[in-house]
Amino acid sequence: MNLQPEKDELCVIIGAGPAGLTAAHELARLGMRSVVLEKDSLVGGISRTINHRGYRCDVGGHRFFTKVRVVRELWEEIMGDDFLVRPRLSRIYYKNRFFDYPLRIRNTLKGLGLVESFLMGWSYIRARLFPEHEERTFEQWVSNRFGRRLFGTFFKSYTEKVWGMSCSEISADWARQRIKNLDFMAAARNALFGAKTHGNKLVTSLIDQFHYPRLGSGMMWERLQARLAEKHIETKLNQQVIRVHHTGGRVTAVTARDGQGRETRVDGEHFIASMPLRDLIRAMDPPPPPDVVDAADSLHYRDFITVMLVVDAPEVFQDNWVYVHSPEVKVGRIQNFKNWSPEMVPDPSKTSLGLEYFAQEGDELWTMSDDDLIDLARSECVRLGFATAENVMDGAVVRMPKAYPVYDSNHRESVDAIRNWIGTLKNLHPVGRNGQHRYNNMDHSMASAMCAARVIHGAEIDIWDVGVDEAYLEEPETVGDVEREAMITDEVIRDTFARYDAPAMGTALGLMAAIVLFLMSMTLILKGGDPIGPTLMLLSNYLPGYRMTLVGVAIGALQAGGWAFLFGFLLARAINLVVGMIEGLLLRRIEIVRTMVDGD
Ligand SMILES: Cc1cc2nc3c(=O)[nH]c(=O)nc-3n(C[C@H](O)[C@H](O)[C@H](O)COP(=O)(O)OP(=O)(O)OC[C@H]3O[C@@H](n4cnc5c(N)ncnc54)[C@H](O)[C@@H]3O)c2cc1C
Repeated sequence: MNLQPEKDELCVIIGAGPAGLTAAHELARLGMRSVVLEKDSLVGGISRTINHRGYRCDVGGHRFFTKVRVVRELWEEIMGDDFLVRPRLSRIYYKNRFFDYPLRIRNTLKGLGLVESFLMGWSYIRARLFPEHEERTFEQWVSNRFGRRLFGTFFKSYTEKVWGMSCSEISADWARQRIKNLDFMAAARNALFGAKTHGNKLVTSLIDQFHYPRLGSGMMWERLQARLAEKHIETKLNQQVIRVHHTGGRVTAVTARDGQGRETRVDGEHFIASMPLRDLIRAMDPPPPPDVVDAADSLHYRDFITVMLVVDAPEVFQDNWVYVHSPEVKVGRIQNFKNWSPEMVPDPSKTSLGLEYFAQEGDELWTMSDDDLIDLARSECVRLGFATAENVMDGAVVRMPKAYPVYDSNHRESVDAIRNWIGTLKNLHPVGRNGQHRYNNMDHSMASAMCAARVIHGAEIDIWDVGVDEAYLEEPETVGDVEREAMITDEVIRDTFARYDAPAMGTALGLMAAIVLFLMSMTLILKGGDPIGPTLMLLSNYLPGYRMTLVGVAIGALQAGGWAFLFGFLLARAINLVVGMIEGLLLRRIEIVRTMVDGD
């Protein structure tokens, strides 16, 4: 079999997910040729859509949302009129109750009851005044921002289902990346006033709506594959890259194996890899130094199973998806695909639900037969009240290995070690989610892929540093400037609203109070005569043991220092709280204006 296109300067792309296909598209735009090798029999990677007897199912629903203009433009260009704008509704199911998500005050109070709500508010105030200094774990990070009680109710059980480990073992990095701009005040503001802060704009564009292809997220990637084929850029399916050959600091070729075990070597000039970083390192021929192999072997993943059930009912619940926090069932989230797009079901009198289970390749759930998984999903669906045993008509199972790159305590060092070694190979560019071991969304995968294509074309960008908030992909004189300006504005605001260092303020006031009292008292002692003036006499009522003797003065000064420390510490915390609120409001207003300017 010959996979080799005629032209010499060829870029070989590993993986036909969002990153791989976007890389091929961008290379074509830049006038360069590529071939895409995909190990599966369909494109889209984790963002694929499967079709079971006309019922379509994503691997988790995929919202299309991005701040990166070029990514949005590509989606719009490819999807045209098939890019729907859909309303978003999602709730949390916990202790047999539904809670609106994002939280809304009346609904939350009703669900939790007054006592629990009060305790939650108190736990928040305590966390803000006395946060844990160390923020190494997910539990510490979230508790510091939301309070322990809210963490226990709305974060702990779902997060532990997703990751299969305790929140105290999950790195704070994950929370930082996923929950970065949200805090309790923002949640409370939203809960109290809703997100409708400027006409209707913010509500409709940022919170309550999203874009979605008419036939599921995979439609985007199938269309892009077809578009590439029109330009004679082939996506070779069922071609798993098993070896990456390199010599003299350059990758020269890859070997791919098809479903029948036949191997093919594909030579190229440039290589873009969206396959998992661990697999990439293991495929290197010759192997990298042992410490790099060890680093790759220490990377972990979480695997994902969707069980689609077809229910004989026109409507089961109104949400696009429901988070199931209840610890008594294994299911973590339930998608209602019909509410993503009505055309995800062929018959409007039926509903298809996607029950999502988080697993580890080889564990009890992962190795269950499809029939057993469907039985489990059916029984949990009945238990939660979403179906009866009789009205579940059909089911299908989708297993997605390596759906989540795990952020454990050593992932960062491991990725750095691998990144350094890969940096020695000038023509290999890892991109995308598992390609860079980043818990990302489609837009980041696409942005990193576009940047890799531009690097191959001569641009100087460090693709590992590409984010979705930065303006890497903007043309200098257009939106890029606006975004850069926006970033600078944010920085200026953050500097203007700099926070007090509470321990420093406490220590300064404490020391000052202790020294002043000590010096005043010593002056009186040295002056002699009637040593205790009326003011100082009063003080001894508040500072037990304060006397006009050397020991008494020391005791008084220590106590005055302690009280002043506490006062300064609390004052700083209170000021920070108010300043934080004002800064948050200001940033939010700016964001609204930006959103309107951007036309989103
Ligand atoms: C449950 C869930 C819900 C999500 N929801 C959203 C959402 O709402 N919005 C959003 O934007 N993002 C969402 N994401 C994230 C999104 O799925 C990913 O960001 C995106 O799919 C990553 O694209 P990628 O191309 O980098 O990687 P992938 O999608 O993993 O694609 C990599 C491709 O490489 C192939 N491959 C792997 N190894 C080899 C090999 N050796 N040889 C050849 N091919 C190989 C794979 O088969 C795959 O097709 C979600 C993810 C999950 C798990």
